[in-house]
Amino acid sequence: MNDLRNLRTMKDVKEYTDKNYPGWIKGYAERYSDDYPHLTCTWVEMAKMMKAEPAQIMLVSSLPHAEHDKATSPVLIALCDIFSRTGFMIRRQHEFQACTVCDALIPTKECFTKLTVKPPFEWRAMCRMCEEDRESPRPVIEEVKDDLD
Ligand SMILES: [Zn+2]
Repeated sequence: MNDLRNLRTMKDVKEYTDKNYPGWIKGYAERYSDDYPHLTCTWVEMAKMMKAEPAQIMLVSSLPHAEHDKATSPVLIALCDIFSRTGFMIRRQHEFQACTVCDALIPTKECFTKLTVKPPFEWRAMCRMCEEDRESPRPVIEEVKDDLD
């Protein structure tokens, strides 16, 4: 636990976490899909509460519970606390996937059905905007034929 006090930068914290809990951090995402504004809103509100700027969404293999896991994983809980305080949103990796077009984070189909705020559309593996862009490809400029031969 004392080790944590020696970590000066977020880079140190990330390295410490990877070294002591290999595989716990599964990845990072820059943003949620625009289809889920309430998820972004929760994150922005959380960061505001911590007086931090939203940093990244951190995807982890499991989330320790602040009360239940206090005795067994105090260090991991302390690390979560440090990440949260610096604007990281920590989410379970198995609940999210990246938009197949733009990489923004989308809840998995299973997680989608459990959202407290029900989106007014069917689940899809990409943002609605990304899907629209794919369905209406940019007009192809036709080759101008020279009929004067
Ligand atoms: Zn997208």
